[in-house]
Amino acid sequence: MSLHELYQEMIVDHSRSPRNFHKLQEKAQNLEGYNPLCGDKFTIYASFKGKKISDLSFEGNGCAISTASASLMTEFMKNKSFDEAESIIAEFQRLVTGGELKGVDLGKLQVFEGVQEFPIRVKCAVLAWHTLRSLLHGERKAVTTE
Ligand code: ZN
Repeated sequence: MSLHELYQEMIVDHSRSPRNFHKLQEKAQNLEGYNPLCGDKFTIYASFKGKKISDLSFEGNGCAISTASASLMTEFMKNKSFDEAESIIAEFQRLVTGGELKGVDLGKLQVFEGVQEFPIRVKCAVLAWHTLRSLLHGERKAVTTE
């Protein structure tokens, strides 16, 4: 299966049945992210233990790409340290914008390379990631991609 086919399949799968699609209870922090270009709007919930992401989830509405990206993010980033999370977020940003990769392991997130072909979709793909980064930085203001 080509990377492109894999990309299509994962986007469809995760947008139809998003993982970790619920609120987090107790002590979870949350932040809203909005992409006015497309109308994607999510709330990201995160629990932290020390300097580690112990749990991660999301809610909201968005297009297939933003939903799949948020869904895969919640799976991939659970149990990552803040430092690991920062470098993964930066690498993901480079991946979808066609930047020079630094060799950070992105696992199956690699399929988002396909977004490069659709520049208008980049903001959809990075929305959840920018929101998570703001959460990690303790920011309380809703994130917008504009
Ligand atoms: Zn979108």
